[in-house]
Amino acid sequence: MRIDKYLSNLKYGSRTEIKKLIKDKKVIVNNEVIKNNDFKIDLKNDSVLIDGKVIPYFEELNLVLNKPSGYLSANKDNLHKTVIDLIDEPFNRYDLKISGRLDLDTEGLLVLTTSGEFAHEITSPNSNILKTYEVLLDKDCNDFTELEKGVIIKDGKGNEYLAKAIAISRLGFCKIKIVIDEGKFHQVKRMFEKIGYIVIGLKRVKIGNLELGDLKIGEYRIFKREELLWQI
Ligand code: URA
Repeated sequence: MRIDKYLSNLKYGSRTEIKKLIKDKKVIVNNEVIKNNDFKIDLKNDSVLIDGKVIPYFEELNLVLNKPSGYLSANKDNLHKTVIDLIDEPFNRYDLKISGRLDLDTEGLLVLTTSGEFAHEITSPNSNILKTYEVLLDKDCNDFTELEKGVIIKDGKGNEYLAKAIAISRLGFCKIKIVIDEGKFHQVKRMFEKIGYIVIGLKRVKIGNLELGDLKIGEYRIFKREELLWQI
């Protein structure tokens, strides 16, 4: 790929700004200062240094983030901080898609990926990839029969559908673990609301086989597709 195209893909600025970076000798490939905008780089094998920083190349980049409450699952917003604000260089230079958005006040496992197809696979109802949530309710709950049988709730478009808990258990006073295989708009909150409870805290802890593990709130790490897709 041409170096100027690569720099443009990685959001290093306009054509003029990229030309200036090169002219100012700030682009180094395999220890050689690049002088021409059309210099061709081998993405997999060349080592690229831009403005003093090593820029690794990812054919596909998958990140798992422990989303804090108060961050919007969006790439940009005028009002709120977004999950992308938590991602550092060079990862934030990649075009990251958010798979399976979490509400503003929901915490936990959020997948960001450069692959549109992988992002879709995670959320598609056809994939049946399980999502596990820990829920804090306004009052204690011991009877899960209705959620196990399924309740009729509305999705984001106002259409009714049957939402079922694939597995559900009580973790402690007012604290429930629920597994669902879809991710409709406010699904967990609406399911509990339907049986007379208010969700006052919600955290996604697992998608497929991918877990939050030791990630602290606001932290993220790279993962491979297989980690998520391998289901027990
Ligand atoms: N269900 C909800 O109600 N909210 C979320 O953020 C995720 C699942």
